[in-house]
Amino acid sequence: MLHQEVMATGPRQFLERTSHDGPFHFFCPSALNARVAAFAAGFRGQVTFAVKANPAEHVILQLWGQGVTAFDVASVDEITLVSRLCPQAALHYHNPVRSRAEIAAAVAAGVVSWSVDDPAELDKLVAGGAAGQIAVRFALPVDGASYNFGEKFGTSPELAARLLTHVAQAGLQPALTFHVGTQCAQPSAWATYIRTASDIARQAGVQLASLNVGGGFASGRDGSVVDHQGVFDAIDQAASAFDVPPAMVCEPGRGLVADAFAYAVRVKGRRGDAVYINDGIYGGLSELPSIGVPALRVIRAGGTAAARRRPMTVWGPTCDSLDRLPGTLDLPEDLIEGDWILFSAMGAYVTGVSTRFNGYGAWETIPVLTLE
Ligand SMILES: *Cc1c(COP(=O)(O)O)cnc(C)c1O
Repeated sequence: MLHQEVMATGPRQFLERTSHDGPFHFFCPSALNARVAAFAAGFRGQVTFAVKANPAEHVILQLWGQGVTAFDVASVDEITLVSRLCPQAALHYHNPVRSRAEIAAAVAAGVVSWSVDDPAELDKLVAGGAAGQIAVRFALPVDGASYNFGEKFGTSPELAARLLTHVAQAGLQPALTFHVGTQCAQPSAWATYIRTASDIARQAGVQLASLNVGGGFASGRDGSVVDHQGVFDAIDQAASAFDVPPAMVCEPGRGLVADAFAYAVRVKGRRGDAVYINDGIYGGLSELPSIGVPALRVIRAGGTAAARRRPMTVWGPTCDSLDRLPGTLDLPEDLIEGDWILFSAMGAYVTGVSTRFNGYGAWETIPVLTLE
């Protein structure tokens, strides 16, 4: 739930005054607008939003209001959500494996772009009456991301060329797509993919309707201020590998929304170097075991925690012993019950991922003017 009425200045001011335990998901609307503007200015093509990164209704509505008019949806529920909130939005159904029932629902909803990575999936789309663009998804062994997206989806460049030919033969508009992997720090990853895309299109003898360079754009999880211009420049430069550059599309999730949010959890108890907090891997912190702990600050109502830090084991609130943050966290050596731990860049893969396991994982969204 989003509390619109009172906007706190920032997380510190709010946490120093609240009588509740949280957890709290702080949201800075102006930071989201600034990031949308940076993509609009720097990316030469259509910017779409990957809904799974943050399916909060207020986020989708704000993106739409800022000129994001197409959304990458991966399920019938996401299609229904976006269609209800923004009936004019273009729907890109870029989950390459779909049931026939899902295809029927998506055709009825007017999906205009689909991805495939397998001949059988293309056959299903054609049989189901899919129209518009078909983006063939390919995968390369490219480094730079937090984990390997190519392991689940994406075909080889050779098979992609054959699939692309089949798309054109079926009378559909051929396109290519890839995903470099989430939180990718290497602009060269996009460049490698784009150069391969031009080879694939040439091999298939097909003029691409579009090239979708996916998501993977990083957030400032390490506490740095993100600038995607280096990636945009690498994309522009690599696109010159095409004789006729196709229309470019990107579908960031994390890179658009993560830095507009922070997440505060509270210390419930401390035993030596073991700390118990009020949310964990089944709630808003579910991503931490797979991609690491983001930059954090400790906020103490009416005081300041010690500057000196020591490594501590941090346990989530459920009675499950897997509910532990990875490794150790460097926390103030005088950390006490009631202190807040505020994690940065928490706008992606929190909403929609949290469970209510063991009665935890319920957080409130607090709008703020700044996340400083
Ligand atoms: C998840 C996903 C994205 C967004 O990924 P980020 O790493 O959050 O930018 C984009 N495209 C597809 C097909 C996805 O599945």
